[in-house]
Amino acid sequence: VKIIEGENLRKKLHNTVLELKGNIRVFCRVRPLLPEDGVNTEPKVFSYPTALEVLGRGIDLIQNVQKHSFTFDKVFMPDASQEEVFVEISQLVQSALDGYKVCIFAYGQTGSGKTYTMMGRPGSPDQKGLIPRSLEQIFKTKQSLQQQGWKYDMQVSMLEIYNETIRDLLPANRSCSDMSRTENGVAGKQYTIKHDANGNTVVSDLTIVDVRSSREVSYLLDQAAQSRSVGKTQMNEESSRSHFVFTMRISGYNESTDQQVQGVLNLIDLAGSERLSRSGATGDRLKETQAINKSLSSLSDVIFALAKKEDHVPFRNSKLTYLLQPCLGGDSKTLMVVNVSPDPSSVGESLCSLRFAARVNACEIGIPRRQT
Ligand code: ADP
Repeated sequence: VKIIEGENLRKKLHNTVLELKGNIRVFCRVRPLLPEDGVNTEPKVFSYPTALEVLGRGIDLIQNVQKHSFTFDKVFMPDASQEEVFVEISQLVQSALDGYKVCIFAYGQTGSGKTYTMMGRPGSPDQKGLIPRSLEQIFKTKQSLQQQGWKYDMQVSMLEIYNETIRDLLPANRSCSDMSRTENGVAGKQYTIKHDANGNTVVSDLTIVDVRSSREVSYLLDQAAQSRSVGKTQMNEESSRSHFVFTMRISGYNESTDQQVQGVLNLIDLAGSERLSRSGATGDRLKETQAINKSLSSLSDVIFALAKKEDHVPFRNSKLTYLLQPCLGGDSKTLMVVNVSPDPSSVGESLCSLRFAARVNACEIGIPRRQT
């Protein structure tokens, strides 16, 4: 009985803390050590203090002899499964069906596990990522809500932002069944972003597809993956250098109660956050890295301005923030998953990622920016 009480109390405290924090959550995920890391034994880069469990979760990063401590809403250790991570976000996904605008970002240096977290490992159902799991949940819940009189229309678009340029990742004007790879989304086509009177983002000429099942969306995700690899060879671009934005618009109507909801779910695999000094970039790579740094810092500027309730929020400073403007702030919900690698050679980048995430984490409890 005592254990149950303890558990309940912990849950209660945890939920209270989450409520106080408002609409931004930050999770941290440490990926396991991989053979390609070239390290034989688990390095002592991270430790996971348990004393912080009641008020969120803690993680220590050990750099040389220095220890840096961070607290996040949730910390996933290397052995955390995709299912365990999804369980923690499923309510957030659900809220898109309830009419909320939701953004889930994966942030971190290249190789830290962002794509694994979002998409998972192809061909391995156990290792499906947050995007396929979210879609399965949405369509399953949609079915059960239909019995209560709800009807839903769902539309999907997928784009990437590379060097501050939008590329459509879905072929235009085709239904799901007869879609094949097209030249759509090649470099040079200009997509403009506007916000309509209802506060929705409209990207000119962007392909938007009506979807009725998670299988249809999986098909589109495969198409998008192909478009990304076409872009890669045409523009010598690696997918880690661009932001991938998956958007699902959900419109629901209940005839018997005359209720209407309009939710949006944005799932974003951000470009690698590595700094210039480490990437050693020159020429095109330098330009790419600068564009990535600019848009990532614009994203944090927007989050900080919203947290401080500033009059001017600099949404227009990058394509990414302008695109997501209606889904950031207000009563929208944001989750940032910061991914880090346990490889000792990445410790500097991991520290940067954790510091960035800790600042975002501190946002809604009102810690002024200069003190963080
Ligand atoms: P990023 O998208 O940040 O560049 P990836 O998601 O491609 O990084 O991950 C780099 C490598 O690590 C991939 O081989 C991926 O399968 C593996 N990986 C990442 N996270 C995990 C995890 N939690 N469990 C197992 N393998 C992982």
